[in-house]
Amino acid sequence: MVYQRSSALFAEARKYIPGGVNSPVRAFKAVGGDPIFVKSAKGAYLYDEDGNKLIDYIASWGPLILGHAYEPVIEAVIEKAKKGTSFGMPTEVETELAKLAVNMVPNIDKIRFVNSGTEACMSAVRLARGYTGKDKIIKFAGCYHGHSDSFLIQAGSGAVTFGSPNSPGVTQGTAKDTLLANYNDLESVKELTKANKGAIAAVIIEPIAGNMGCIIPSDGFIKGLRELCTQEGILLIFDEVMTGFRLGKGGAQEALGIDADIVTFGKVIGGGLPVGAFAAKDVIMDHLAPDGPVYQAGTLSGNPLAMSAGLAMLTELEANPKVFKSLADKTAYLHKGMEEVLVKNGVPHQINRYGSMMSVHFTDEPVVDFASSAKGNNDTFKKYFHGMLRGGVYLPPSAFESYFLNDALTYGDLDFTIKALDNIVDELK
Ligand code: PLP
Repeated sequence: MVYQRSSALFAEARKYIPGGVNSPVRAFKAVGGDPIFVKSAKGAYLYDEDGNKLIDYIASWGPLILGHAYEPVIEAVIEKAKKGTSFGMPTEVETELAKLAVNMVPNIDKIRFVNSGTEACMSAVRLARGYTGKDKIIKFAGCYHGHSDSFLIQAGSGAVTFGSPNSPGVTQGTAKDTLLANYNDLESVKELTKANKGAIAAVIIEPIAGNMGCIIPSDGFIKGLRELCTQEGILLIFDEVMTGFRLGKGGAQEALGIDADIVTFGKVIGGGLPVGAFAAKDVIMDHLAPDGPVYQAGTLSGNPLAMSAGLAMLTELEANPKVFKSLADKTAYLHKGMEEVLVKNGVPHQINRYGSMMSVHFTDEPVVDFASSAKGNNDTFKKYFHGMLRGGVYLPPSAFESYFLNDALTYGDLDFTIKALDNIVDELK
């Protein structure tokens, strides 16, 4: 495949945009080479600026669960745009989306819309602090909750890909209020709660982690967290920016059968437009301004175009919940096919999968937390990424990211992907 035009566009972008991108992981730093510039996309396919067609396994990092340019979403946005793009005043569509989300997700009464997952998590933590009157939070190494200061402590995703899990610019004062535990290690949380008794407002977690690759919670881990939080008067925040409306209508709360105190959303809830949200029971949500004292706001929050995209997306998912099973089945098929190729050829690997999230790690050891994920062989990963790309398959350009399957993918696409791996597997030995 030729990437001449993409490379030229990247060179031009680098003159005016730091690193040529508006979010670091797009720059291909972890895998080398120039990033691909997209011209358009439809269904499961990307069409790049050089005329190549690629099967897409990132779906804009999760939002496009039904595939690119999904008609009902596009039509809703076009119709809405004709009536004005932003008012800074209440609109009915905000309530429509809120009502639908509250009905789909267990254990929430109210939801507040923001513009990104970062804002959702940052606001959820402020709300937890305001509600409990405590300052500290616990997060898990390798979990990513956006780029707000409190979360850039051993953060996963792009932060770790670029070697700054603890970013310069985050003050010591902020960092000291974020306590760090290990994923799948309840004891590490217990130690922190013991040493900081009465000082912890919230534990924030990706209930199924997707930012150190896909990591599955071990038996009893999330249940144990729930019990510990209840016992200690700590709020449990599920960051469902990835898992919300992807694992099922009710997200990870429903999949795991565990209630969180606050839930955050992003990605699918915006149907591909910039939307984040956080939600909880009335008793917590009513602490927010204007009725309560915890301040939170946004010029473009609840933007009518974004709300109508989200409404069209959730309406589709609500009407056709079979899509979640269809996605999980496709992901299991891909997992099985890729595993067979890697096993047959003796390539050390781990494939982790939950619902329609999945990741491939080139290591012998089970990948259960940040430390084990970081042991993956990045040289092999680079060869894998570029080999698959040459074969027409676009994977996340970092081993610390999850694949997000979309329902426009056909079994033919999955077979094509497995074959693409078979074609390059010798390079991975
Ligand atoms: N939380 C999780 C679990 C995420 O995966 C992400 C982004 O990937 C965020 C929060 C931040 O969302 P955004 O990039 O929309 O700010």
